[in-house]
Amino acid sequence: MIDIYKELKIPTMINAYAAFTVLGGSCMNDTTIEYMASASREYVDIRDFQKSLHERIAEMTKNEASYICPGAMAGIYLATYAAVARKYGKNVRYLSKDQISKCEVLAFKGQRNPYDRAIEQTGVRTVDFMYPNMWDAPNASHLEHSITENTVAIYVLAGARNVFPTYMPLEEIIHVANTRNIPVFVDAAAQIPPIETLWKYNQMGATITLASGGKDLGGPQATGLITGSKEFINIIVEHGFPNYGIGRMFKIGRESMAGIYAAIKQYLEMDSEEYNRRMEDEVAYIGEVFNDSKIFKYERDFPNESGQPVPRAFLEIISTQTDCIEIIELLKRNSKPIITMSEGRNGIFVNPMTLRTGELEIVISALKKIESEILLRS
Ligand SMILES: *Cc1c(COP(=O)(O)O)cnc(C)c1O
Repeated sequence: MIDIYKELKIPTMINAYAAFTVLGGSCMNDTTIEYMASASREYVDIRDFQKSLHERIAEMTKNEASYICPGAMAGIYLATYAAVARKYGKNVRYLSKDQISKCEVLAFKGQRNPYDRAIEQTGVRTVDFMYPNMWDAPNASHLEHSITENTVAIYVLAGARNVFPTYMPLEEIIHVANTRNIPVFVDAAAQIPPIETLWKYNQMGATITLASGGKDLGGPQATGLITGSKEFINIIVEHGFPNYGIGRMFKIGRESMAGIYAAIKQYLEMDSEEYNRRMEDEVAYIGEVFNDSKIFKYERDFPNESGQPVPRAFLEIISTQTDCIEIIELLKRNSKPIITMSEGRNGIFVNPMTLRTGELEIVISALKKIESEILLRS
């Protein structure tokens, strides 16, 4: 069997932390890889293939429409241009830079994040509203007063655990946006599981939801999905790949399109209760193993760092003989490096979601070995 990492002599790792883009996002299963391989073997009319996949995915995910893009951040970019085109009633290729730069997208100040740069990259301005440290409860009038004649969309970040609490309920945002005829984008890139994310916000009235294909969905790393309003996604289709203009920059291969389709299909067929039970069992098992430990104190952490309803184990370091920096370093020195993080606390997270079959045992025995080495110090 071909092994690119062996060929290049690049060490592979055990990901005990999260679907981290810099570690590869997630791993695809054999079925997804087979779908990708099958797409690569023949020529096809790309537009026909896209249309068919988009319709299938929309149907499977209880949506009016869907669009496959090369990552959720690229999706934010395409959606921003579509909102500009919607305002002027024409393709952005017929608009001047001035017309584009007049447009504004509203974003909660407390939700600004590295991915929302995609909005400004189009030339549109991002306008912050609602300061996270306001004393008065957020209400519709704050949002109403922030909307101007140039507002083309409202950008909302879904679900993340660290989203500031002075956040208006999505229903209220949608209500105000609807009365002013402004599209709402829900960035739910890291909100799968649950898979309901692909339709939940749209059913509440959001215009589109953006999801990443290469995180826990388990699709190809460089894919993303936009679901939602048919009218709005039609504008995205007009601007997107394979059309010339801005969309051509976001080329997406037929293999990737087949891969994300396969990942969604399998995710929907998966027994999510069984999956959650397995994650709970694995986390509880870590707790049992370190129950009497003099080094680690177990804690069930829920929801996880991106707000997904899946537990993680947190092992707090209770010994004065070591700290999380050393433990993280020692895990990296395992024969197959184990990657995890402390998130600013004195301990480490072990997330079963990204561990592949048999890897939990490897992580536990590496931790046990570290534990006994440290016990010898005191
Ligand atoms: C990961 C992430 C993105 C970017 O997704 P890609 O598919 O990697 O482009 C955007 N927004 C949020 C909130 C994310 O977590």
